[in-house]
Amino acid sequence: MLQNEDILRLSHKVAQSGHWYIRLNDNTLFWSEEVFLLHGMSPNAIPPTVDNALSFYHPNDRDRVEALINETIETGKPLSFDARIVRVDGDVRWVETLGELKSSPASNTRYLFGIFRDITENQQQRMHNQRLAWVLENTQELILMTDSNGRINWANSAFETLSGYSLEEARGHKPGDLLQGPETDPQTIAYMRDCVARQQGFSCEVLNYTKGGAHYWLRISCQPEFDSDGKLYGFNSIQTDITQSKQIRFDLEAEINERRRLEEQLRYLATHDELSTLPNRRHFLEQAEKEVERAIRHGRPLSLLMIDMDHFKRINDQYGHSTGDEVIQAFAERCQGMLRKSDTAARIGGEEFSVLLPETGNDSGRQMAERLRSLIAHEPIHTQAGPIHLTLSIGVSTYSKASPSVEAMIQEADRHLYEAKDNGRDQVV
Ligand code: GH3
Ligand code: MG
Ligand code: MG
Repeated sequence: MLQNEDILRLSHKVAQSGHWYIRLNDNTLFWSEEVFLLHGMSPNAIPPTVDNALSFYHPNDRDRVEALINETIETGKPLSFDARIVRVDGDVRWVETLGELKSSPASNTRYLFGIFRDITENQQQRMHNQRLAWVLENTQELILMTDSNGRINWANSAFETLSGYSLEEARGHKPGDLLQGPETDPQTIAYMRDCVARQQGFSCEVLNYTKGGAHYWLRISCQPEFDSDGKLYGFNSIQTDITQSKQIRFDLEAEINERRRLEEQLRYLATHDELSTLPNRRHFLEQAEKEVERAIRHGRPLSLLMIDMDHFKRINDQYGHSTGDEVIQAFAERCQGMLRKSDTAARIGGEEFSVLLPETGNDSGRQMAERLRSLIAHEPIHTQAGPIHLTLSIGVSTYSKASPSVEAMIQEADRHLYEAKDNGRDQVV
């Protein structure tokens, strides 16, 4: 036959509790085995008196417990309290007590009986949860939790402060819908959506918008949480405000780009002539060295033109120096327009120019020079002072055993240029 005692023992086991009663007529106390054990005593020990039992309570709790017990005895109000006991080994435990008064009219006896339960671990868990809650509310990190549909169901104060949305306003919205906007990188949005759809964690940096429309940058670390069936429960997201460091990085990048631009400009200025925008003498010589090396290595022809404007002093004298400048610019443009991409025209002196013609033998070089001479001679240059007639004298040289270097090629072309001048100008030699 199943006894009530068996059921009681089992329920004590499940609840990790014991029971006790005081027979109020003679103030005797009964403890179940578990109550002895909870006090750190042997279950066979002699039951303490009521006063002794009360003395187990922690000094800070004892008076309160005694008052509550007396109140129940006097008023019949159910007994319920949490308090600390100090076990015989000195260990302090939290216990929960629930009790009631009961009278037995037959024997004219009154009892106060109750359940006694160790809640130390619950208490510790509660304290621990309280601390976790404090940390979540006081951290600078934004903490966001979503349900399995990706909708916000919890966020901490840091989130409310930075985003400007209260938890109530944010709840039920998808973070992306609420917080991202036109300047958020679409690729980042697609990446986050993809991870969420695949129930995967992700980390990234993203531009968000406050309720008031201001930008802020976050570094997000987001992880899915699954229930015991392996079903998605929601996402937990920790977010760091990186707006400041992002700004510093943007400023630095802008500065680096500006420096690169300046360096580029300096390099250009060092290698180009300002007036004509053509390569200058030094740059031309470097190019020429490379082309000569190539011509030697591949056994390819290479020609060079030296060009000097005829009677340029007269143009300056007649129209002024700035018109002379215009003529130089216009000539450079025309010359450049006539050349192949692989050719290099340079301004190597006042109104003296050089052209390097790779893959070009002496005949072709001469033809090229002739085309240029004729183009300039037949088409006046238009300046603000009106059309100006200009002619060129051009000396041509070609890489050969007789002119085996840049220097030798320049000297030869120069000689031919002087010949052209001597022979009456406006010609190619
Ligand atoms: P030639 O036919 O013998 O070459 O006669 P030329 O007058 O052209 O004489 P030369 O080549 O010796 O003189 C070039 C002149 O070009 C001298 C100088 O005043 C002028 N010149 C040099 N550089 C510039 C410049 O940048 N701008 C202008 N406007 N004139 C320049
Ligand atoms: Mg000259
Ligand atoms: Mg000249």
